[in-house]
Amino acid sequence: MKKFSIAVLPGDGIGPEVTKQAVNVLKAVGKKYSAEFVFKEGLIGGCAIDACGKALPEETLKLCRESDAVLLGAVGGPKWDDLPGDQRPEAGLLGIRAGLKLYANLRPALIFPSLKGASPLRPDLVKDGLDVMVVRELTGGIYFGRRGRTTTAEGEAAAFDTEIYSVPEVKRVARVAFEIAKVRRKRLASVDKANVLESSRLWREAVTELSLEYPEIELTHMYVDNAAMQLVRNPAQFDVIVTTNMFGDILSDEASVITGSIGMLPSASLGDGKLGLYEPVHGSAPDIAGQDKANPLASILSAAMMLKYSLGLSEAADDMEKAVNRVLESGCRTADIATPGTRLVGTEEMGKLIADCI
Ligand code: NAD
Repeated sequence: MKKFSIAVLPGDGIGPEVTKQAVNVLKAVGKKYSAEFVFKEGLIGGCAIDACGKALPEETLKLCRESDAVLLGAVGGPKWDDLPGDQRPEAGLLGIRAGLKLYANLRPALIFPSLKGASPLRPDLVKDGLDVMVVRELTGGIYFGRRGRTTTAEGEAAAFDTEIYSVPEVKRVARVAFEIAKVRRKRLASVDKANVLESSRLWREAVTELSLEYPEIELTHMYVDNAAMQLVRNPAQFDVIVTTNMFGDILSDEASVITGSIGMLPSASLGDGKLGLYEPVHGSAPDIAGQDKANPLASILSAAMMLKYSLGLSEAADDMEKAVNRVLESGCRTADIATPGTRLVGTEEMGKLIADCI
């Protein structure tokens, strides 16, 4: 029997509720696929601040480094909103990504056939479905470049942020994207602004050079303004998208909103090794916390990504995704995705339905 250690960081608000369901589904998967998952919990975010004064305690980072994968819930809430930026629960998220050297953020945007009606796009635009994987560079670019305040020659206040990328930084995230394209539909769109930005011209050169190692992948380059437009005009044309930190931040939100609900969206953050961090895209949703209303599917689908990318259990991951689809097709919905004629279920029941389906 294969044994895996999984660090579970439930966090705040609905984090613990949805994570509990993902863990239950993983236990069902473990039984079916003869895999033993050893879950160890750690603190992150507001609950960690309350317990030990830091959003990311050293022992949490140590636990994650010693694990095969990390499953995170969500952090934050009104209780901690007045703390200064670097002491807020969200600082724990930046800390853990940096601490584990996770430079590639994967956000799949997938419309489940039974949820086509939830997309804000016209039905004819999503009739061919949507299954896009956005790979965003996570630890470089303008969010990490030199920034500051200055004054113009005329004495007016001014500010600057610097977009900087090195060739190895571009190639390592592009490699992740090429590898993912290899096991999907073999198409990769690299998004930049090479008609204006020098950093984008270097990005494009580096991705093109790397593409020589992947002759089976059809690589295209697209300007970010065009990509933003194409995503809402003809989303089915995309398979994998790779792009910089800032463009990825914006495009992954755009791609995800096309799918309907934030409660459905998983994510993975990867580095050089197998260790990855898996978390729903949504936050701690304090408005519905503790009421058995949260949709646990984003967390459950994040756990499926964990099986695929960190634990090498692709078949089990597919099984989990199929279970989600089957339960949705049976008409069961949490409040965020409910439509007339569907059956309303709570967080616990939705989790149990998926686990039973496995
Ligand atoms: P949010 O994602 O928590 O909530 C936005 C809206 O979506 C709310 O109405 C909420 O009820 C709903 N929602 C979110 N997840 C849902 C789910 N699984 N099922 C059903 N409905 C769901 O974003 P917000 O309200 O802007 O932020 C709340 C807190 O979460 C803040 O403290 C913020 O800083 C934090 N946050 C954390 C993360 C993270 O941990 N990765 C991400 C974003 C925001």
